[in-house]
Amino acid sequence: MGTDKSPSADCTAMDLKLNREAGTLTVTWKDNHVTVLDAPTLRKACPCATCNESRRKESENLFNILSSDPGQGPPRITGASLIGNYAIQLTWDDGHSAGIFDFKFLRALDKGEAPTPSSARGQDSPDAKQ
Ligand SMILES: [Zn+2]
Repeated sequence: MGTDKSPSADCTAMDLKLNREAGTLTVTWKDNHVTVLDAPTLRKACPCATCNESRRKESENLFNILSSDPGQGPPRITGASLIGNYAIQLTWDDGHSAGIFDFKFLRALDKGEAPTPSSARGQDSPDAKQ
């Protein structure tokens, strides 16, 4: 109490583990919280310009989602490298590696605050109420 000022307390990663077989990234935070994110979740949230653009297109045309190639499974994470002490860069088996996930972003994903502004404001949002 009292020293709760630091904004990075829950966004400081103490440990990062990539499990290639399970396709998960496990982050242990300074506040002892553990976040496990799977590859599809991470790929869907990939913050790079290319993925942002394709998400934008998908949100404009829902048929793109339905007609996306079903023959291929979701991409797998093949590597992860630390960017300074604030972010992690993931490499995928389809050659994609432009996405840099900063720790705040990963923590937000864990909280379910998926940062996809364009798709978040659906007109009907059918799954808003269940
Ligand atoms: Zn991307």
